[in-house]
Amino acid sequence: MAKKQFKAESKRLLEMMINSIYTQKEIFLRELISNASDAIDKMYYKALTDETITFNQDDYYIKVVADKEKRTLTISDTGIGMTKDDLKTNLGTIAKSGSLTFKNENEIKDGHDIIGQFGVGFYSAFMVADVVTVTSKAVGSDKAYKWESDGADGYTIEETTKDSVGTEITIKVKENTEDESYDEFLEDYRLKAIIKKYSDFIRYPIKMDVTQK
Ligand code: ADP
Ligand code: MG
Repeated sequence: MAKKQFKAESKRLLEMMINSIYTQKEIFLRELISNASDAIDKMYYKALTDETITFNQDDYYIKVVADKEKRTLTISDTGIGMTKDDLKTNLGTIAKSGSLTFKNENEIKDGHDIIGQFGVGFYSAFMVADVVTVTSKAVGSDKAYKWESDGADGYTIEETTKDSVGTEITIKVKENTEDESYDEFLEDYRLKAIIKKYSDFIRYPIKMDVTQK
């Protein structure tokens, strides 16, 4: 008899999964920074084998910018970027760890943390976001794409423009509720403290704007 696939309420499943893995909302920043760092690592590995890419250590960094007026937090990197297909596969498949695949394929055996192995790190952004927008341009591609999702009704992908290779993730930070406050994720001093706490070991510079808007 033909087997049928289970149907799943993806929004509920996502919430359950995220809430069971993560106890603190603040770790979404660690997850996004770790993805940014992975993307830069991938660029580094690619540069080792591809002569057309010159890996200049100084050109590679992660940037975190909060805009209180727009209520957005943007994490950008100068890493390898994602093609339209990558966006579909990597951000459209919950619990598929692209990094794990990459590491297995390239026989890289450094110790990376267990949460990373679940392949759900990216989705932790939805603990603090109403909408997540990912704009990316892959290395070797002249086109850029925008992936957007509210975490509930799936996602959209459309062509966009982006000057440089890399990825920019913009989080529309949730409004405060009676029980929960999200304002802290728009405060530079809080973001700095979270970065210090969880991302101190990241080997690329993590830049922030000098003056907060
Ligand atoms: P994991 O990091 O364990 O693979 P995530 O849910 O954190 O799982 O991320 C899913 C995948 O999305 C990554 O493996 C990667 O392929 C892709 N991705 C996420 N963020 C970025 C980024 N900033 N640049 C390039 N690819 C990314
Ligand atoms: Mg990750």
